Amino acid sequence: MFIEPTFYQKNQGWIEVICGSMFSGKSEELIRRLKRAHIANQKVEIFKPLIDNRYDEKDIVSHDQNRIHSTPVGAAQRILLLTQGVEVIGIDEAQFFDENLPEVCESLAQNGLRVVVAGLDKDFLGRPFGTMPQLLAIADSVTKLHAICMRCGGLATHSFRKVSSKEQVVLGEKESYEPRCRRCFTDGQKLNAQVASRIEDHE
Ligand code: ZN
Repeated sequence: MFIEPTFYQKNQGWIEVICGSMFSGKSEELIRRLKRAHIANQKVEIFKPLIDNRYDEKDIVSHDQNRIHSTPVGAAQRILLLTQGVEVIGIDEAQFFDENLPEVCESLAQNGLRVVVAGLDKDFLGRPFGTMPQLLAIADSVTKLHAICMRCGGLATHSFRKVSSKEQVVLGEKESYEPRCRRCFTDGQKLNAQVASRIEDHE
């Protein structure tokens, strides 16, 4: 269950962060909030990092194909140039943006905009991802969503990578990752480490 921010007032400036593991419904939740603002005739713009072109060039596409138009941008500061007359800003896949994103969000909120940010809070090793820790700290409201653990059916807070790679960013999430609870994630990490050391022993 999550608590919707209730005290937001138009034009007061506001940052809200939606975070969680993969498959926890972050994009769906971002889309739901922005569509609602759009229905209320507020001017909405959505941005995503250029790196994320997994499904579609121009639209944020959540896994259930609930889509909404978005603009891919290379650098976080570009967002500041593209928000003329805009009241509500959505930012998806925030963990992939550069280190200027928190400052950009602050400056948008200071200009009275409502900023809704969605992103992965942890990477495949369970470490804080990109500028998400800073964004969570400066947020006026935080929603942490959970997926369902694919091993035990408990609440999942971690994104477990099933393929072997040390890169922080591996796209194509459906094939490469599964949501896991803390315990099943830790068990998987141990198993991976054992397999890796066995391979080393053979070499
Ligand atoms: Zn589990």
